[in-house]
Amino acid sequence: MIDFRSDTVTQPDQKMREAMANAPVGDDVYGDDPTVNELEQWAAERHGFEAAVFTSSGTQANLLGILSHCDRGDEYLCGQQAHNYKYEAGGAAVLGSVQPQPIENNKDGTLCFEKLAAAVKPDDSHFARTKLLSLENTIGGKILPVEYLAKARDFVNQHNLKLHLDGARVYNASVALGVDIKEISQHFDSMTICLSKGLGAPIGSLLLGDADYIQRARRLRKMVGGGMRQAGILAAAGKIALTENVERLKDDHDNARYLSENLGAIPGFNTFIYPVQTNIVYADVATHIDIHAIASALKEQGIMFSPSHKAMRFVTHKDVTKSDIDTLLAAIEKQL
Ligand SMILES: *Cc1c(COP(=O)(O)O)cnc(C)c1O
Repeated sequence: MIDFRSDTVTQPDQKMREAMANAPVGDDVYGDDPTVNELEQWAAERHGFEAAVFTSSGTQANLLGILSHCDRGDEYLCGQQAHNYKYEAGGAAVLGSVQPQPIENNKDGTLCFEKLAAAVKPDDSHFARTKLLSLENTIGGKILPVEYLAKARDFVNQHNLKLHLDGARVYNASVALGVDIKEISQHFDSMTICLSKGLGAPIGSLLLGDADYIQRARRLRKMVGGGMRQAGILAAAGKIALTENVERLKDDHDNARYLSENLGAIPGFNTFIYPVQTNIVYADVATHIDIHAIASALKEQGIMFSPSHKAMRFVTHKDVTKSDIDTLLAAIEKQL
């Protein structure tokens, strides 16, 4: 199986499985799991925060992240395309009574500060209280420029808001830019990291922030059923993800560029309007080509990708190679 649907489909490698098997564990609900504690302390320091909490998923990390900044009747500003607006079942609103205020994303994934400023509500009983700006990096594979993050910090300071980063794929941004992760994380009051996307762990995310904030997040994590027992088995994989699997993200980016260039050379496939920045490739497909027919024919051959109405999406990761991409391209050409 060659699977381009997502960078979540990776298999834990032997080193990771051994670390999981050998991890010292305890009951993390009592705070007794040494491997979880070690990962949380290490990650807090590594990313320049006071504390961290290990969560079962990125969705849970964002939920705790937003609800630990906001009370009922507060609101957070975010992108119309933000994962924590569009793809998390409305969790902050449903479970926290926190209203999202989405703003149309610019083409590069950023949010316009004038539009954000216009959406910040005055202190008036008609309005929800605007408390938080949530950004996402990378967003749809696109990197927010580091200078933009500094401007976002100025913006939230000026408006007395907190700044959260949905950093599910933040390491793709840091590796592609060639900057240390702290160059990105330093601008934020809180940040999430997904350990089970390109970094190759089977399960888990982290939420980072100051000590009081993470204390609030722990209570909420328990509330939503996210307190886990011998979770060190998972944290051990997460530590390997962060220490061994970061630099190799460059291979995924190189492979994505290779795929984009070669797919774009096939008539009817336009990849040039979405220049590849990290590990996600989009192609607009001419209307006479039946994307869904190609998808099902390739699936028969053990090749999977995400088709939509007029576009294809491919995500590169550690379990697809350059030669797998050649196989994909040949299989697509054969269907035309
Ligand atoms: C995948 C993703 C999440 C959610 O992570 P899950 O582990 O799937 O819950 C959050 N934000 C972004 C940007 C993501 O890509």
